Amino acid sequence: MNKLENTIKQLRSLRLAAIADQLPVLLERARDNDQSHLSLIAELVEYELAQRNANRIRRNYKQARFPANKRLEQFDFQHQTTITKREVNELLDFNFIDERRNVIFIGPPGVGKTHLAISIGIEAVTAGYKVLFKSALDLVEELELAEMKGELKKRLTQLGKYDLLIIDELGYLPMNSQSRYNLFQLINSLYEYRSIILTTNKNFASWAEFFHNDAVAVPIVDRIIHHSHLFMLGGESYRLKAKMKDI
Ligand code: ADP
Ligand code: MG
Repeated sequence: MNKLENTIKQLRSLRLAAIADQLPVLLERARDNDQSHLSLIAELVEYELAQRNANRIRRNYKQARFPANKRLEQFDFQHQTTITKREVNELLDFNFIDERRNVIFIGPPGVGKTHLAISIGIEAVTAGYKVLFKSALDLVEELELAEMKGELKKRLTQLGKYDLLIIDELGYLPMNSQSRYNLFQLINSLYEYRSIILTTNKNFASWAEFFHNDAVAVPIVDRIIHHSHLFMLGGESYRLKAKMKDI
C-alpha cells in the first residue's frame, strides 16, 4: 500500500471520511498551485466540518418527522392576508428559539396553520436547530403510553432534547383527565427551557372549556402563552379554494 492509500485508510479509521474522500484531489490541486501546507490543511479541515454540518442537518431533518414538505416559498400570502410575510420572516432569525419563546397559530381549518408550522420548522432545521413535529393526538397517545409504563419522566426528558417542538392541532379532539395532566407535565417541563410552535382551532376563551375547567387548564394555557407570539389566522380555507377551482 502506498503512503496516500495508507493515509486515506487512517483518516477513515479516525472518522475523517470527508477529508479521506477529498484528499487526492485537494493534494493534487495544492501541488499544481503551490499552495502552502497550512492553507491545504485549513481547506481539508473546513471541508470535513462543512460535510459534518450538512450531514447533521440531513439527520435532523429526518428526525423532525415532518408530515409533508411544506416550504415557505409555496405559501401564498395573497390568499392568507391575516398574517404578513414580514411577520413570518421575523421569526426566521430564530431568536424565539434562542430565547425559549413560543409561537401560536390559532384559526379555523384550512387557513395554513400546519403549513406555516412545518415551513418554519424546516427553516429551523436548516439553521441547525433540532426540531420535532408531533400531532397533538399522537403526542397525547404517546404520553399516555409512557405514563402507563411508568416512563413519563423519561419520555419528557427525550422530548426536551429538541430545541423546538411543534404540536399540531391541539383542541380538535377531547382529552381525558390523565391526558390533560400528562400534557401539563410536558408543557411544564418545556417552559422557559425549550420552544413550542402550537397550532390550534381553539381560541383561549374556549380552552378552559376544552380542558374541562380542571385544575391544569389555567397553568397549561398560562405557560404556553407567556413569552409567545400569537397569530390569529382567518380567511377562507385554502382547501376549499382549491376545490372550488375544480368545479
Ligand atoms: P390548517 O392547518 O390551518 O388546517 P393547512 O396548513 O393544513 O391548514 O392547509 C391546508 C392545505 O392548504 C395544505 O395543503 C396547505 O399546504 C395549503 N395551504 C393553506 N394555506 C395556504 C396558502 N396561503 N398558500 C399555499 N398553500 C396553502
Ligand atoms: Mg392543520
